[in-house]
Amino acid sequence: MNFADLGLSDELTAAVTALGYETPTPIQEQSIPLVLMGRDILGSAQTGTGKTASFTLPMIDILANGRAKARMPRSLILAPTRELAAQVADNFNQFATNHNLSMALLIGGVSFADQEAALDKGVDVLIATPGRLLDHFERGKVLLQDVKILVIDEADRMLDMGFIPDIERIVGTLPVMRQTLFFSATLSDEIKGIGSKFVINPKVISVAPPAATASTIEAKLLWTPPRKKRETLRHLLRSEEIQNAVIFCNRKRDISTLLSSLKRHEFKAVALHGDMTQSARLAALDEFKEGVSPLLIASDVAARGLDIPSVSHVFNFDVPSNAEDYVHRIGRTGRAGRSGKAFTLAMPNDDDRKLVAAVETLTGAPIDVLEGHEPHATPAPDKTKGKAKKPNKSENRNEHGELRPVAWVGGNSFKDCDHIPAFLRSA
Ligand code: AMP
Repeated sequence: MNFADLGLSDELTAAVTALGYETPTPIQEQSIPLVLMGRDILGSAQTGTGKTASFTLPMIDILANGRAKARMPRSLILAPTRELAAQVADNFNQFATNHNLSMALLIGGVSFADQEAALDKGVDVLIATPGRLLDHFERGKVLLQDVKILVIDEADRMLDMGFIPDIERIVGTLPVMRQTLFFSATLSDEIKGIGSKFVINPKVISVAPPAATASTIEAKLLWTPPRKKRETLRHLLRSEEIQNAVIFCNRKRDISTLLSSLKRHEFKAVALHGDMTQSARLAALDEFKEGVSPLLIASDVAARGLDIPSVSHVFNFDVPSNAEDYVHRIGRTGRAGRSGKAFTLAMPNDDDRKLVAAVETLTGAPIDVLEGHEPHATPAPDKTKGKAKKPNKSENRNEHGELRPVAWVGGNSFKDCDHIPAFLRSA
């Protein structure tokens, strides 16, 4: 299969070949013929799969004939961040070298005057972040009734960053008769629900993330009652030889709670989630990268696409709601042949059991349960005494009455460990 087989024009195929692309990626193979046919798409694909070309290439051929009127772009690509929008614009410029199409990029941090001048000339492809586009729209500098193709890229990040109301406003000003391509790293039920408001009779396409988890990652599962999750995490943090770790939570509010709790227990940690300002996020990320805070508590979407260095440990404070996220989360460790460990805390209820089963189906292997953390772990009876041994409080608990942590020293053996390594300790 090559790019010409997908129905792309000779000029476009030549441009792509000149870039060194030989064969289309799976998302390109699925998406390009459908987009050329005019179909709407609900697509699930991560960055790195060749997703950008999967919508920009057919758009270029569709737009090849026709001319843009001043301030009335013929197509619109919405991306959640400046960096992503700029990346899409770079791709477009590379692919469209043999076409006479104009493009404008509307992102923050760039002067309005330059952007207005570009809009005034008429643009075939408008690439924008939602906020900056609305700024121009409200000033009457851009009119959207001529948009024939709309792309919403990285919809799950849009959701996490609170952009969905902006997107709804923008889409409300577009013609109903248009083609809509909606892409998200994962298609959760929530994202599908949002996407279905924008598309008509879409083709759902999805490309599998790298399903195999790296062989350098040692993954363990701990069945933990909800009230014991924070305590269990602290045990692991104290007992594991951590250099740096990402702790993933499913919900933003849990990130803040966990951050306060870890700080209260004297751990150095920072948080990263979609409700933080861009500058607060960058500051947290810097602290983590520089080792000032060796623990980063993050949501999937906030962490996605960010250049986070390889870590020694990944903790899934929650089993991810999307099995694919599990692979991405634990892929933060065990990179470049180095070994890494990943611990997943699962609650012994039906929801978490289903989520764990989904992860195991995707990766094709069960996650090893850490000994003593089986779904219904009960203390083993002391056979020598002929009756179950009552746990001795002082033996199992520290001076705060907390369970004494155990260190996993490889295999299934444990050793006592009761202090926070100085490196992880705040103050
Ligand atoms: P994306 O997922 O769109 O961010 O693309 C990831 C990277 O893959 C970009 O650097 C693209 O230039 C590159 N790429 C996209 N499609 C292909 C292809 N068919 N062959 C080789 N490289 C590609």
